Amino acid sequence: MTMKNKPYRLGVDLGGTKIEGMILDPDDRVLLRKRKPTPRNGSGHGYEMVLDNVCDLIRELQQAIPDGADCTIGIGTPGSLDPATGLLQNSNTLCLNRMPLKKDIEDRIGRPVGMQNDANCFTLAESIQGAGKDFRVVFGIIMGTGCGGGISIDGKILQGAHGIAGEWGHVSIDPDGVDCYCGNRGCIETKISGGGVEKAFAARFGRRLRMEQIVAGFRTGDGPCAEIFRQFLDDFGRATGGLISVLDPDAVVIGGGLSNIDELYNEGVALIRRYAFHPNIHTPILKNKLGDSAGVIGAAWIGV
Ligand SMILES: [Zn+2]
Repeated sequence: MTMKNKPYRLGVDLGGTKIEGMILDPDDRVLLRKRKPTPRNGSGHGYEMVLDNVCDLIRELQQAIPDGADCTIGIGTPGSLDPATGLLQNSNTLCLNRMPLKKDIEDRIGRPVGMQNDANCFTLAESIQGAGKDFRVVFGIIMGTGCGGGISIDGKILQGAHGIAGEWGHVSIDPDGVDCYCGNRGCIETKISGGGVEKAFAARFGRRLRMEQIVAGFRTGDGPCAEIFRQFLDDFGRATGGLISVLDPDAVVIGGGLSNIDELYNEGVALIRRYAFHPNIHTPILKNKLGDSAGVIGAAWIGV
């Protein structure tokens, strides 16, 4: 037993539809995974039910850890903790906003926990165990129904003065764009998330298609799908080129449902090169390696 000082790592990923928990053993192997549903925003006591489910899941997982073994606990959340107030902010699971989620969980389970937003957990997992493993500075992007980002430097998450470092999805790149839930207009999230692209299609053509239908239509030469999809690729290039000009990371790792779109890694990369402030950008733009598991693995790695 050479690794006796390494702890077990318990991670919980609090997602929009499910709460997933995992334990990594001291050799970083998955010991156990469990899931519970996330109570819906609309239910009157949504926040209390989220707390109950998270704490129940932690207690159930803890039973699998041998008596006396060290264990860290980390929780990935939609939204981030404001370091000044300790309240959760910017969450699209609305019942969590302005709530002291970390403190309430710690009070209930009687010990400290680490807490980071889901994009930071994704970025950390990919930078330690996934596609960004061989790089020092990694920018992680989640492109799914929404769009988030995180910055990992030497295997640690950069928090920023306000806890919003890497919150790239809410940089406005189009003052004439559509309203975003955050109060801005034309945020990157409204341009390159699945939900944003679907809304843009409906606004332009008066009918609804899902993102995968738009991608399929582009590939078979459908005119409306091609118009919207080319705009999506251009916005992806503009947004990612801009972030590379600011951070100049060693690699960018893409996660979320849209990370499976092959065009991002060829046409998309060509557009990034066009928009970034350097004539010969060679930043690797990588598809994630951990898939849906990155959030909960990252949560395990941010534990305390
Ligand atoms: Zn926004």
